[in-house]
Amino acid sequence: MTIKTILTEPNKILRKISEPVEKVGDEERKLMKDMLETMYSARGIGLAAIQIGIPKRIIVMDLSKEDEKKEPRYFVNPIIKNKNEELATYEEGCLSVPGQFAEIQRPNKCEVEYLDYDGKKKILHATGLLATCIQHELDHCNGKLFIDYLSKLKKSIIIKKLSKQKNNPDRIVV
Ligand code: ZN
Repeated sequence: MTIKTILTEPNKILRKISEPVEKVGDEERKLMKDMLETMYSARGIGLAAIQIGIPKRIIVMDLSKEDEKKEPRYFVNPIIKNKNEELATYEEGCLSVPGQFAEIQRPNKCEVEYLDYDGKKKILHATGLLATCIQHELDHCNGKLFIDYLSKLKKSIIIKKLSKQKNNPDRIVV
């Protein structure tokens, strides 16, 4: 397994719309393992393939707590079939928008159809954090970030901050 570099905003690749996967084979499974390893090492709970620069509709997630047994989840070609009208609010962050958080409202329940690690068709009835997380990750597959839900002003402040961080050279003490 290889830990990959996570792309951060602003980056045009993050705005690409990912393509569906034709079939879940060894190459896709290797990608999912790499994504999971990358996500764990960055201490995230979800990661979409486009965040490591691969425009495929693949998501990995693990919502288990640190002291619990790991519970990796794999979603290939996820489609949201039904969304609840009721909304839930979470303070969201994103590995591609480092250090920035904002309260985002999303449907509090959704039904997701997807292929699992073995390429089998599955349906998941997601609620709570799981529902929010899968919607956040699916947005990545469609080139969308959580900051797109904010006002133009808030979004531009965040992007400015991130651009500044990128241009700052590393500080070294020798
Ligand atoms: Zn994200």
